[in-house]
Amino acid sequence: MPVEKINTLVVGGGQAGVAMSEHLGNNGIPHLVLERDRIAERWRTARWDSLVANGPAWHDRFPGMEFPDFDPDAFPGKEAVADYFVEYAKKIDAPIRCGVEVKSVRRNEGRAGFTALTSQGVIEAQHVVAATGPFQKPVFPEIIPAEADLMQIHSNAYRNPDQLPAGAVMVVGAGASGAQIAEELQQSGRQVTLSVGPHDRPPRSYRGRDFVWWLGVLGKWDMQTPGPGTEHVTFAVSGANGGNTVDYRRFAAMGMTLVGRTENYENGTLRFSGELPNSIAHGDRNYLSVLDEADAYAERNGLDMPTDPAARQMLEDPDCIRDPIRALDIAAAGITSVIWATGYTQDYSWLQVDAFNDAGKPDHRRGVSTEPGVYFVGLPWLSRRGSSFIWGVWHDAKFVADHIATQQTYLEYTPAASAQTIDA
Ligand SMILES: Cc1cc2nc3c(=O)[nH]c(=O)nc-3n(C[C@H](O)[C@H](O)[C@H](O)COP(=O)(O)OP(=O)(O)OC[C@H]3O[C@@H](n4cnc5c(N)ncnc54)[C@H](O)[C@@H]3O)c2cc1C
Repeated sequence: MPVEKINTLVVGGGQAGVAMSEHLGNNGIPHLVLERDRIAERWRTARWDSLVANGPAWHDRFPGMEFPDFDPDAFPGKEAVADYFVEYAKKIDAPIRCGVEVKSVRRNEGRAGFTALTSQGVIEAQHVVAATGPFQKPVFPEIIPAEADLMQIHSNAYRNPDQLPAGAVMVVGAGASGAQIAEELQQSGRQVTLSVGPHDRPPRSYRGRDFVWWLGVLGKWDMQTPGPGTEHVTFAVSGANGGNTVDYRRFAAMGMTLVGRTENYENGTLRFSGELPNSIAHGDRNYLSVLDEADAYAERNGLDMPTDPAARQMLEDPDCIRDPIRALDIAAAGITSVIWATGYTQDYSWLQVDAFNDAGKPDHRRGVSTEPGVYFVGLPWLSRRGSSFIWGVWHDAKFVADHIATQQTYLEYTPAASAQTIDA
């Protein structure tokens, strides 16, 4: 079988793969991006129909191109985001080969580089960049047995309210996905119960600026590690309906029932932790801390911005927060479907190299892995809080491409002295 050779092989043609291609190209590194489906496939087929970007178009993009024909302060829909990356790839003339799956990557024995087996042949490369996504495999706890008379899907498979059987819906997880899906379902006339755990919920906007701007100027997107105790705290934001603060009290006022974390299921009854008031209080503290820091920033920098006292007013606690529901008979509540908005894990089974720690997680610093020549991009907190987001991955990809270019310079170096000796 003929073997194709390339300096750098990038696996995955989402935004991370496109960003890698731009920076590798700028460094003059010959490379190839392999994508098993289409460019930015997950934006097209692993999201619900109404999803819009969580950040406005001026922010959730790469520096090299604006969203064509789009109000910079509006939130692009998922198809517009995917189209943006297709256009971007064209603009930079990215060598992306679609419809090719990488089945395995192994280090070569006794010689440099790696061999990739793909669905269309064998490729050898000196460097391999894994750009296969931060959110690959849906995960949800096995709390409700499959035999229970309910439709159970992950948020990854949710498309729209019509997809669900008639009846009430339980949404487990109240981060960006869970909160947006629950709100859409409640607005569509479904009775929704939303299981809420600890969360951060920044204000959508404050004093005339979107939260993405505030988090930017306050240095929050550049935080290098999560704060102590906040490693798994979900981030509840939404660009839906033109962009509103995720406010669980507002959800309750719409008729939604809020419960704490979903803990177990027995004989048709779901049980929840009693921590809902604490989770709501945690979210409020996070929300108010952003307002406080924003005020301090505006004052320190003498910014002439309108004040926004209404942002500090909270709705009254509904009964379900004051007196948390600890158990729910699913049939009695009329619940016919459960949506697990409980996150994702990664699958690197194809990457058979020494780049993982004891827990099986990528072992790297800023994407440079413990296996020389293997790199990761797009992972949450790869270098900073923004790493898995559109604008953040572009900066991480630059660092990784620069690292590859530097290594390449070493590999290409020939000592002048030895050249002379050979000549002599
Ligand atoms: C619901 C949701 C909403 C989000 N909203 C936003 C937002 O508004 N703004 C924002 O900045 N971020 C958002 N994100 C986060 C992030 O931007 C997306 O997850 C984005 O898709 C990540 O891009 P990526 O290129 O790193 O990975 P992916 O988009 O997952 O791309 C990886 C690609 O690799 C391909 N692939 C995987 N394995 C192989 C293989 N073995 N061989 C070949 N190809 C392979 C896949 O087909 C895929 O196309 C959101 C995430 C989710 C889940």
